Amino acid sequence: MKFYSLNHPVPETSFKEAVIAGIAPDKGLYFPESITPLPSDFFDSIEKLSNLEIAFEAIRQFVSEDIPDDVLKEILKNTLDFDFPVVEIEENVATLELFHGPTMAFKDVGARFMANCLGYFSQGENEEVTVLVATSGDTGGAVANGFLGVDGVNVVILYPSGKVSDIQEKQLTTLGQNIVAMEVDGTFDDCQRMVKTAFLDGEITDHRKLTSANSINVARWLPQLFYFLFAYKQAKSKGKEIVFSVPSGNFGNICAGTVAQKLGMPVKHFVASTNVNDVVPKFMQKGIYNPVPSIATISNAMDVGDPSNFVRIRHLYQDDLSTLQENLSSFSFSDEATRTAMKTVYSQTGYVMDPHGAVGYLGLKEYQKNKPNTYGIFLETAHPVKFLDVVEETLGLSPEIPAQIQKVIDKEKHSIKIKTYEDLKSYLLDKN
Ligand SMILES: *Cc1c(COP(=O)(O)O)cnc(C)c1O
Repeated sequence: MKFYSLNHPVPETSFKEAVIAGIAPDKGLYFPESITPLPSDFFDSIEKLSNLEIAFEAIRQFVSEDIPDDVLKEILKNTLDFDFPVVEIEENVATLELFHGPTMAFKDVGARFMANCLGYFSQGENEEVTVLVATSGDTGGAVANGFLGVDGVNVVILYPSGKVSDIQEKQLTTLGQNIVAMEVDGTFDDCQRMVKTAFLDGEITDHRKLTSANSINVARWLPQLFYFLFAYKQAKSKGKEIVFSVPSGNFGNICAGTVAQKLGMPVKHFVASTNVNDVVPKFMQKGIYNPVPSIATISNAMDVGDPSNFVRIRHLYQDDLSTLQENLSSFSFSDEATRTAMKTVYSQTGYVMDPHGAVGYLGLKEYQKNKPNTYGIFLETAHPVKFLDVVEETLGLSPEIPAQIQKVIDKEKHSIKIKTYEDLKSYLLDKN
């Protein structure tokens, strides 16, 4: 299987090349040349398969030319060694908990899969690869954790000083080894801009092989389709039409869900739920895509004004708005509505949602107003403890700190403070 750039649809890039490059030379996102549905008996008897077997069958066609089956199985074992439970909280409403991994956000799956792939591709290579990534919070921790100790790979994470939660900062600054955290005197947008500038800076790229670990990278994006299949396996016996609601920011997660559907998963509809950063909900009404600067909200991992993966979703539907509307609904919610949902669900069911999950819940309920007889699953993309302030303030309770978090909380922070792009550049040029 080859991949092509969405700016130049000639499939000529291998999975390995696409992973190492991150983004195509013409700045397009890579996309698989084909998606062949799995045989129907795969879905008929999916409950007999383990998660590892499901993941193997689902991803194999995309990677098999570059990763032998036995290596792929090992990579999946390292990636998926935690649970993905579907928890019913109301009649016909369940949540898919994606926060049981090491950094307690769904990004663990993509980050670990990518780290393992890159580790495998680096074997026997002389030149080290540097993963350069900007984070507004969850990506940094997941990438740091996933890549820790991977031979031949260095990781440099840029984060905005004072603008990530204490727990998130600990997760990305305390690991050491091949992980370096750069604390930027600026905003997330500044971090992102520095990273983008570095990728285009010949002086740096002549000197170092750089790649990105954001969801534009196919090795981070595609494995996110796994847990839609794991959820389908658990909810299938309900005998109802299943619909997924995905709290969305850069739209990588929901786009992976759409790939699971193209693989034959019998799910007809997805809901893309957003906070007030509503470029996509607006697009779904009129077909006009109008990116704007992002607005800060309590679901900050979704504060994205120009979602980078939405172009992949449009491509999957040949950019045909009416087909897209049949398959996808998109709704936007304010912080106030999000807090109200957190409170209502907590008081009626005892379930604690984080603000991102709560946006997913709201999108699902909106959709079910017209389709009450569907079985709805919203994704809980992070553990509520990762957004402690909001949860405490809204629900008046302190969630218990899980072991994964406890482990980093007392560790010492190490960061390199930088102010300008030149600071980053001199670091990248000096260190080999
Ligand atoms: C990254 C993130 C999202 C958004 O996911 P996308 O794939 O960018 O749409 C949602 N919730 C949480 C908690 C996240 O960390």
